[in-house]
Amino acid sequence: MPTTSATTRIHNFSAGPAVLPLPVLEEAQRELLALPGVGMSVMEISHRSKTFEDILSRAVEDIRALAHVPDSYKVLMLQGGASLQFSMVPMNLLGPGAAADYVDTGSWADKAIKEARKVGTVNLAGSTKAEKYSRIPAERELTLTPGAAYVHITTNNTIEGTQWTALPEVGGVPLVADASSDIFHAPLDVSRFGLIYAGAQKNLGPSGVTLVIVREDLLARSTDVLPVMMNYRVHAENNSLYNTPNTFGIYILGLTMKWLRSQGGLPAMARVNQRKAAKLYAEIDRTGFYRGTAQPESRSLMNVTFRLATEELEKLFVKESTAAGLDGLKGHRSVGGMRASIYNAFPEEGVDALVDFMREFERKHG
Ligand SMILES: *Cc1c(COP(=O)(O)O)cnc(C)c1O
Repeated sequence: MPTTSATTRIHNFSAGPAVLPLPVLEEAQRELLALPGVGMSVMEISHRSKTFEDILSRAVEDIRALAHVPDSYKVLMLQGGASLQFSMVPMNLLGPGAAADYVDTGSWADKAIKEARKVGTVNLAGSTKAEKYSRIPAERELTLTPGAAYVHITTNNTIEGTQWTALPEVGGVPLVADASSDIFHAPLDVSRFGLIYAGAQKNLGPSGVTLVIVREDLLARSTDVLPVMMNYRVHAENNSLYNTPNTFGIYILGLTMKWLRSQGGLPAMARVNQRKAAKLYAEIDRTGFYRGTAQPESRSLMNVTFRLATEELEKLFVKESTAAGLDGLKGHRSVGGMRASIYNAFPEEGVDALVDFMREFERKHG
C-alpha cells in the first residue's frame, strides 16, 4: 500500500536541492526517531561512534563499488558545497609559480575561474561564453598549457543544459572536474581524473555534503600553511572526520547510494537517463513550438533547457505546469526559459507526465 507521502508527492523538476528516491525518504522516515538497534536518531549520535563510522564507511564503500574507484584514490565527504571546492582546488593543487587551465562552459565554470584567479595563475583553455554557453568546445578548440598544474572542467552545466560527452585528452596533467550535476548519471572512469568534486544535492543526496574523490599522490601538494579545514590531506588522513561532518546528510547520501546499487548501479542509471532525456528532447524537437537552447551535440541528460516563442508564453507555461503538479520548471533566473532537471532519482513517469503536458499546452496555445 502506498504511504501518504507517496500519494501526495508531486513531480519535482528542481535543479537542486532536487528529488530524492522515495525509498530513501521512506527508510529515513522509518528510522528517524531511532536507528534500529541504537535507539537514537542518526542526528543525535556522536560522529565518532561505531554506528556513525559504519554509516560513513558503508557510504564510501558503496561509492567505491558503484564507480569502481581505484585504491589509489581517497573518497572524502566535506562541507561548504561545490562552491568551497572552487577555492580548495586551487589552494591545494595550484602551487606558486604554476598555472592551471580552466575551460569556461557556463556560469558555474565562470565562478570556479574567478575563485581560482584569487589564488594563482589561470589560463583560459577554452570558452563558449560568446555563444551563451550553448555548447561544449571541441577538443581542437582547447588551448592546453603543457605542464599545467591541472585542467579544470565542469562536466555538466546545470544552468545552461550542456554536458561533456567525452573527456578532453590532457596527457599527464591531472584533470579536475566539477561533476556536481551529473556525477553517477552513468559509469565514469575515475582513473581519467586527478580530482572529482560534487555538491551532493543534485545527484547524490541532500545539500550540505560535498563528495571529493582525489588521487592520493595529489595530496602531497597540500601544504601545512593552508587553513586546516581547507586542506585535503588533513581530511584524507582523518577519514573525513577531522571535525564534525554533516552526519545526517552523509546518512541520506548513504541510503541513496544503496538505492543506486539496488537499481543496477551506474550502467542501469545510464540507460534510464538516456531514455528520459531522449523523450524530452524528442518532444522539444517535434514541431518547433519549443526550442532547445543547447546545441544538439552538447545537450545535457540531466538539465533539459528550452524556450517558447515569447516570455508571456513561458510565464503561462510555468503557471500551468505548476498547477498541474509539475514543479520547478522555471529556468535559472540568469538565462530564463524552462529547465527540466531529471537527475537519477527523477522517475520516468514524471518525464512522461511532462511530455503529455507539453503536448496539451501546445495544442491549447500553439
Ligand atoms: C549547483 C552547482 C554548484 C554549486 O553548488 P553548491 O553546493 O551550492 O556550492 C557548482 N557547480 C555546479 C556544476 C552546480 O550544478
